[in-house]
Amino acid sequence: METVKHPSERYCLYSACGKPLDQRMRKDAKFCNEQCRAAYHNPKRAELHPDIKRINKILLKNFQILAKALGGKQLVKKKREQIIKQGFNLEYFTHQHKDFIFCYRYGYHLKEDGYFTIFLGYDNAVYKSLED
Ligand SMILES: [Zn+2]
Repeated sequence: METVKHPSERYCLYSACGKPLDQRMRKDAKFCNEQCRAAYHNPKRAELHPDIKRINKILLKNFQILAKALGGKQLVKKKREQIIKQGFNLEYFTHQHKDFIFCYRYGYHLKEDGYFTIFLGYDNAVYKSLED
């Protein structure tokens, strides 16, 4: 559903933010703060949006847990609870191919028997080329 923006409400021009501006701000205010202004004018130097930083952190942690579990092998089977206990977050991953879920170069498969199969993966492009 589309959100209807109230005409009197103004929004931060920095698209990664887009928050409504405080009503008490100056009439010509375009950004909610200096960070948003800087990011808008110089996107290369901009700080990553907090959401991106937060998710990157989760993905990196997942990646490290998978790397450690794999320990240089091509494929390992680990107890699900053992992986979860280390702080693995099942909600975040980089891509998916059928039942295989990926975190960058590591793939995993959740087995119904309470085990994780973890393997050194490929990206979707490689899978697609294998199928052709
Ligand atoms: Zn903003």
